Amino acid sequence: MQTNVQTVWNNCLKTIRESVGEQGFSTWFTPIKPLRLENKVLTIQVPSQFFYEYLEEHYVRVLRYALDKELGSDHRLEYSVVIDKGNAQHKPYTINLPNKVLTANGLNQGNGRARNYSLNSPFDLPEIELANQRSYLNPAYTFDSFIEGDCNRLARSAGLAVAQKPGVTVFNPLMLYGGVGLGKTHLAQAIGNEIKSGINDKFILYISSEKFANQFYEAIKSHKIQDFSNFFLQVDVLILDDVQFFEGKEKTQEIFFHIFNHLHQSGKQIIMTSDRSPRDLTGLMDRLVSRFKWGLTADLQQPDLETRMAIIERKMQAEGITIPSNVIEYLAYSVDTNIRELEGVLISMIANASLIKRDIDLELAKQTLKNIVHDIDTEVGVDFIQKKISDHFNVTIDELKDKTRKKDIVIARQVAMYFSKEYTNLSLKSIGYHFGGRDHSTVIHAVQAIEDMCDTDSVFKRKIEELRKQLKMKVA
Ligand code: ADP
Ligand code: MG
Repeated sequence: MQTNVQTVWNNCLKTIRESVGEQGFSTWFTPIKPLRLENKVLTIQVPSQFFYEYLEEHYVRVLRYALDKELGSDHRLEYSVVIDKGNAQHKPYTINLPNKVLTANGLNQGNGRARNYSLNSPFDLPEIELANQRSYLNPAYTFDSFIEGDCNRLARSAGLAVAQKPGVTVFNPLMLYGGVGLGKTHLAQAIGNEIKSGINDKFILYISSEKFANQFYEAIKSHKIQDFSNFFLQVDVLILDDVQFFEGKEKTQEIFFHIFNHLHQSGKQIIMTSDRSPRDLTGLMDRLVSRFKWGLTADLQQPDLETRMAIIERKMQAEGITIPSNVIEYLAYSVDTNIRELEGVLISMIANASLIKRDIDLELAKQTLKNIVHDIDTEVGVDFIQKKISDHFNVTIDELKDKTRKKDIVIARQVAMYFSKEYTNLSLKSIGYHFGGRDHSTVIHAVQAIEDMCDTDSVFKRKIEELRKQLKMKVA
């Protein structure tokens, strides 16, 4: 009997609905179209790459559970991702992606379903060809989607050079380092994807250092160390992510040292990332660290405002969403920690907008940010400080932001800036923005003025201390 794909999917939806709640259900599951069901392989169409990644990251267990129930545990799930919606002239363009193989961190992590993938452990691979198809690269991480800015220019151009001539340039190894969420994994994978897109049969492998270490550990246990290193010696381009994970793991470092030397001598390209510079990798053997410095070490820094704006614009474009420039500016000003966080905010905002079916505007952006800040219960935000101070000094929030030079308003404004500096992670520039687009030097001046007043006026000082207490306790 032919099983109807729509019926199967409807049943799955029932199960899913029970476990994800109404909000999540309508945001992430209603837009899915079941396409076909063949030999227990269910293909579902999702509106964008973003959707695919989001489902894989957040709902993969629920999906599995529902499919298990409907099709049995040997089912498979495939996504058809709409890349381009098409128009009158050309048909929509879609790509097919498997379930839970390509994730931002590489390998199929902890899905407890190894039997669907003979590739649970790379050194078990029967054929290099097979491995070659599975570089464990996330296709979304390309140079094209990597926005260039002052913060990443050197790293990006070195990466491009390596991608054009892997193993041939002096950038071998290429070591990319920088704080969390600044694009190390993206850039390292972009190099892999770029090489892969050319005409060659290079074996490119992306692996996190953690996975490398775990597999090495498994190899030791099963007496397969030789197989383990043989596998890595066949790689033409090795991308090893987050090498700081090797700190303190001497045996892992040794086998990697051996693999590194061999690959390097045979002109193979090595790309590594780390959350700090080689100099600061204190738990690594000196001889390994000294090899890291043979090639080029390039850092990724915090993106500046313009880069953040360009990133937001690009990400939204990729989702086929246009947002007003004042929203872009607001978000870029408000989220200045790292790009991953910025993306988190964008995701929530898109989800919010589609949930309440309204366009993205400044109000929605503010609402989203507020919820997020509230959710993770971080520091007191600028909005809260402004509210608190305006109540206390009996001035309006608008007066805090406008150009009035009346003495009591100026003082209230300076106090609010002073606390914004103390309680938020925002840059001076960003704080200035929240106060009617003032300059960062105005904020410095405000902080200085309040400190001076505290030094000379003990009544004022007590007032500030009282306010500080209230802000800390988040008393509205
Ligand atoms: P890291 O590995 O340094 O922690 P990631 O490479 O995972 O950071 O980047 C975090 C997120 O930010 C990813 O989704 C990535 O696509 C995005 N990202 C980072 N840098 C850029 C950039 N320059 N342009 C566009 N997106 C970026
Ligand atoms: Mg990373």
